[in-house]
Amino acid sequence: MERTLSIIKPDAVSRNLSGAILKMIQDAGLKVVAMKMIQLSKAEAEGFYAVHKARPFFGSLVDFMISGPVVVSILEGDDAIARYRKLMGATNPAGAEEGTIRKIHALDIEKNSVHGSDAPETAAFETSYFFSALEMVG
Ligand code: ADP
Ligand code: MG
Repeated sequence: MERTLSIIKPDAVSRNLSGAILKMIQDAGLKVVAMKMIQLSKAEAEGFYAVHKARPFFGSLVDFMISGPVVVSILEGDDAIARYRKLMGATNPAGAEEGTIRKIHALDIEKNSVHGSDAPETAAFETSYFFSALEMVG
């Protein structure tokens, strides 16, 4: 069993797509073991994306991530990290596989509807960034 962090980003929450995206996640057999809707502060978004601090898109990404509420959750399952990345599709929806969340719902390379951890180390950091052990209930 593996756990990964999912974020339904502001572009998707604001278009009322949280339910549709959660349905895709659950239909794929990933189990939600923690979930909440939150409004990130600038410092919280910067801390979450600190690994991208030097990238040219960092400031715009942070502004986007604080533009409205997000739905953060922890997903559990065998190989959950890779399975969720595959379900999400490529970062740029223009190149994402048919049937993926980003192909169906994303607007562009920045407003791409979902985040998913990319490795066990980032999953451990990201799940504990948003949730305490007591909030992981599944
Ligand atoms: P992923 O979310 O697929 O793991 P990255 O970790 O590379 O992608 O980037 C984090 C987020 O930063 C992306 O999901 C997207 O919202 C944004 N982003 C990535 N590359 C670009 C870019 N070239 N221009 C604008 N925003 C970008
Ligand atoms: Mg990433």
